[in-house]
Amino acid sequence: MDSGPGRFPGGTEIAAVQAEQIRHVLVVGAGLGGLRTVEALRSNGYDGRISLVGAERHLPYDRPPLSKQLLAGTWEADRVTLRAADGYDDLGIRTYLGTRAVGWQPGRVELDDGATLHADAVVVATGVVARTLPGLPDTAHTLRTLDDSLALRTALDEASSLAVVGAGFVGAEVASAARDRGIDVTVLEALSVPFARALGEQLGGLCGRLLVESGARLRTGVGIEGFDGDTLLLADGDRVTADVTLVGIGAEPQLGWLSGSGIDVTRGLVCDAAGRVEGIDGLWAVGDVAAWWDDVLDRPVRREHWTSTVEQAAIVGATIAGGEPPAAGVPYFWSDQFGLKVQLFGRPEPATRHVALHGDGLDGGPVKGTVVGLLRDDTLVAVAGFGAARRVARYRALVGAGASVAEVEEMARSLA
Ligand SMILES: Cc1cc2nc3c(=O)[nH]c(=O)nc-3n(C[C@H](O)[C@H](O)[C@H](O)COP(=O)(O)OP(=O)(O)OC[C@H]3O[C@@H](n4cnc5c(N)ncnc54)[C@H](O)[C@@H]3O)c2cc1C
Repeated sequence: MDSGPGRFPGGTEIAAVQAEQIRHVLVVGAGLGGLRTVEALRSNGYDGRISLVGAERHLPYDRPPLSKQLLAGTWEADRVTLRAADGYDDLGIRTYLGTRAVGWQPGRVELDDGATLHADAVVVATGVVARTLPGLPDTAHTLRTLDDSLALRTALDEASSLAVVGAGFVGAEVASAARDRGIDVTVLEALSVPFARALGEQLGGLCGRLLVESGARLRTGVGIEGFDGDTLLLADGDRVTADVTLVGIGAEPQLGWLSGSGIDVTRGLVCDAAGRVEGIDGLWAVGDVAAWWDDVLDRPVRREHWTSTVEQAAIVGATIAGGEPPAAGVPYFWSDQFGLKVQLFGRPEPATRHVALHGDGLDGGPVKGTVVGLLRDDTLVAVAGFGAARRVARYRALVGAGASVAEVEEMARSLA
């Protein structure tokens, strides 16, 4: 990476010069990242033309409730809207909803209705699409969109059993909502420990315990060989049939529309630390599609999390507008499952060891109340908490500062 804020001298000056030349910003993807980018452009004083293109017919909406409140039936669809319909007049933008971008060339984007939009800056915020399995029957569900969530909710209304393929966050949240309705749940996970990729084996094990303690059946180390109608055929020869099947095996960046552009999308859209797509003038990316340069890990990292999307949109909007971009925060994600909040601040990737800070979950005691520090040698790189939101928040600054183990233990004593 050869550019980015602080990576070349006079970065702010260059950004200001660019901002004056930008008369039309085209944001592709009308989800969280797309809308927040538009809002940041306006709040930083950009008064040029803005277009927002979104494949879905819905106004931009929030996804975390899709596997939580909406699925549980405690919220209706109108509550997930990110900005009320009449709030778009204030933004002064042109929206193209139900319209898909199908091609990009420098300075222009082709749409699926045959139109071409020319723009001085294009921001890609097209998110991810749920992975599926070969031969997946039409009756099986994935969960990524508002329509997916409503369809799954309707199916669960009639169901007494649910099979979940993949013990990731979406799978666990759906399992949790189904257990709350008294539905019999079987979760099938290919790895030997659920959540191991996101959290590592020890913390993943705690999430696995939450599943099992809810009464769900968890089968790990089991692959899916195929389907016989609605029945799942397992690699070990077993068969699982349930009224509803949900496949939650991760997601892929929605970047097929850039194929043919010459842009390398194999790792998502690789960007500098301000969201400029590497090597391409006038192209930016935010949210789940974007692999932003991470100064701490010294490599581009793609995070599929709400908070990083919001932060990236604020930085890109401010930078394009010639404003002062906010500083990037400590990476964060949460998941609500089985009556508690699972949270993680920081970058768990380089951790070499754990230290239990509160609660006895790692020793087989209750998962709720457990807070764990993840350390790289003697430096705190992340903190995870299970039903301990207030305590976890107290470690955020220590994670950001790369505190020593002694400082972390002192904090744990003060909060005991
Ligand atoms: C069920 C669920 C639960 C979640 N829960 C949590 C949580 O608890 N905590 C957390 O931190 N994160 C959570 N997330 C993740 C969080 O919602 C995402 O990180 C965030 O939505 C990413 O925003 P985005 O703008 O990148 O993508 P999205 O919000 O997915 O928006 C992308 C939009 O682009 C559109 N699009 C795609 N291709 C095109 C195209 N070619 N042309 C035009 N438009 C296109 C899509 O249709 C979509 O509307 C959850 C996600 C899901 C699906």
